Amino acid sequence: MVGYGSMESSNPIRIPFNKPGFVGSEHDLVMEALARRHISGDGYFTKQCHALLERVLGVRKALLTTSCTHALEMAAILLNITEGDEVIVPSFTFVSTANAFALRGATIRFCDIRPDTLNMDVDSAASLINPRTKAIVPVHYAGVGCDMERLAALAARHGVAIVEDAAHALMGKYQGKHLGSIGGLASLSFHETKNFSCGEGGALLINDEHFTERAEIIREKGTDRAKFFRGQVDKYTWVDIGSSFLPSDILAALLFAQLQARDQIQNDRRGVWDYYHTHLRQWAKQHGVRQPIIPDDCEHPAHLYYLLLPSLATRQALIAHLKQRGIYAVFHYVPLHTSPMGRTFGGQPGDCPVTERVSDCLLRLPLFKDLTPQDLEDVVAAILEFKP
Ligand SMILES: *Cc1c(COP(=O)(O)O)cnc(C)c1O
Repeated sequence: MVGYGSMESSNPIRIPFNKPGFVGSEHDLVMEALARRHISGDGYFTKQCHALLERVLGVRKALLTTSCTHALEMAAILLNITEGDEVIVPSFTFVSTANAFALRGATIRFCDIRPDTLNMDVDSAASLINPRTKAIVPVHYAGVGCDMERLAALAARHGVAIVEDAAHALMGKYQGKHLGSIGGLASLSFHETKNFSCGEGGALLINDEHFTERAEIIREKGTDRAKFFRGQVDKYTWVDIGSSFLPSDILAALLFAQLQARDQIQNDRRGVWDYYHTHLRQWAKQHGVRQPIIPDDCEHPAHLYYLLLPSLATRQALIAHLKQRGIYAVFHYVPLHTSPMGRTFGGQPGDCPVTERVSDCLLRLPLFKDLTPQDLEDVVAAILEFKP
């Protein structure tokens, strides 16, 4: 196998877009999980991950799930989302933000994003609220906090739930609070492409305590098994709807290794992010390229580094230019409101103009913790040669 993109380019990829990074302790902890002979869910390492996330983030309850997608699906069940309910999501996001609610029969309403942070535009969300609205799902894009102050006020005024999609945002903060600790519910992702990973995985974070008991039941196939293991009931039985949302303790061991090494992982990623930001500043200014904007009340977790090129044509040209030099840069997201599924909810081109422009012009640079100083120099040198 050659690198990514080998079908379109004769140059092998020297610098991939992402590479899962290990901290060194993963192997030992996975072996320990095997030795403990509890490899299904909710074993020793799952409990360690829960305790660490609750302590570090200041959330009432953290529950590991098999993915962020599944954590969002749990949130939709917990909110009793049903046919006829509406859920507001940004169009500029990964499909799961919307799909988890569509699965319960909700009508998805797509709001636009702000041109600075690329986060949900609260005015756009407000314009979509009506008596059928059940939930708003802000996505902290690139781990930069949404305007949660205004959003929380809006949601409270209309009695609407907030589910934070914090897939990018673990270790990011808004007004000194950890992202994921603000909405009634929040979701994290531990997919290979995220800062902390066990391959596939996620977590549901619960800040509104009244969801806790039912969340445990939904995660355990609709049974009160968690209560049974705590000795609170003498047998466990089917009490609600649910599914199997808990990951194997082997994956939790892998994740725990990563979460314990969070400072190291974050420092390495921060180094990459800061290098790009500093070394591309002059070039970006000269060529009308927009670098990330971080509001004063946000601390971001160096999840991704993007550039906004002046046009779709220049964005595509820079991707090709980098590929020629063995560097793999990518774009996202295809707007949800103009996707085939999004159109079934009434989405039309032109509904979310900022999303549509950003989707055309945004490029993401390689960002993972094991990028070497030489890699960084090479990426920057290649970009500086490019005149949009
Ligand atoms: C990665 C991602 C998800 C899905 O995460 P999985 O763990 O792969 O299910 C959801 N929302 C956003 C914004 C993401 O970036």
